[in-house]
Amino acid sequence: MSILGSQYDVIQKLGEGGMGVVYLARDTMIQRLVAIKQLHRDGGSEEESLGERFQAEALALAKLNHPNITHLYSFIPKEDTYWMIMEYVEGKTLEDWLKIHQKITHQLAASIAVQILDGLEHAHRKGIIHRDIKPANVMINEDGEVKIMDFGIARMRNAQRITSHGKSVGTLEYMAPEQIQGHEGDERIDVYAVGNILYEMLSGSTPFQSDTDYRLMKDKLEKRAESIIQYNSTVPVSFEKIIFKALQCNPNKRYKSAMEMKIAIEKNLGSSLLDQSTLTDV
Ligand code: ATP
Ligand code: MG
Ligand code: MG
Repeated sequence: MSILGSQYDVIQKLGEGGMGVVYLARDTMIQRLVAIKQLHRDGGSEEESLGERFQAEALALAKLNHPNITHLYSFIPKEDTYWMIMEYVEGKTLEDWLKIHQKITHQLAASIAVQILDGLEHAHRKGIIHRDIKPANVMINEDGEVKIMDFGIARMRNAQRITSHGKSVGTLEYMAPEQIQGHEGDERIDVYAVGNILYEMLSGSTPFQSDTDYRLMKDKLEKRAESIIQYNSTVPVSFEKIIFKALQCNPNKRYKSAMEMKIAIEKNLGSSLLDQSTLTDV
């Protein structure tokens, strides 16, 4: 099968999400592998808003140029179909990767988090908040290199709400408390989500487990998550503190930015390295 005349030869389907199908294809003009996200516009109001979201995702991605964010090569609307031609990222989603690598070391978790924070810091500087950071929207390869994808509900600061019907956006498990409460929020929403991912990578599950959405929301707003160390005794208390600061219910008590959180993690790793070297020196 080819897409857009004979420009792209489809090799296989990579995945399917809420927005459309993603294919691996080869750009026949320059012999480069690409990922193509395809969305059909079938008419009707719901489909129309999906199309708008898709275009908004492309607009957000087009402003970004960072090694930890999936690059957008081009966005092509034609008749009743949209195509997003993207960098092909080899590897797995962090969600799938975590099924194989459980309770990883805090150093490895830190390396993954720092890369996500690096990408986020770049997006935030361009005025773009991701709003749906979760393991399913992060790719990781064999070398532990990380790329953020799926800026599907990302939104320009001060811009029109992209979602239709004023529904809240994001995935409940990873959503910041202020998002659950229907507030617009700022970059600290993404900081919270990175705290969530770190918690999950180290303990094996997200901070709050509830059988109903209502309970989950209530727990997120009222409870403090259980200590990670009881699930993973190798995690230093000082590192857990960083995660709990990112997971603060009140955004004013969190790190102010992705950059600030990144610095805290790096400082923590540096000081624990120092601890180890003084131990071996003695
Ligand atoms: P949703 O919004 O419901 O999460 P979506 O329709 O926005 O889904 P994506 O999450 O972007 O779709 O992609 C669906 C799947 O396709 C991903 O889980 C991933 O496996 C694969 N995929 C997407 N983009 C790429 C890419 N650039 N390189 C490799 N694989 C990709
Ligand atoms: Mg996705
Ligand atoms: Mg999406």
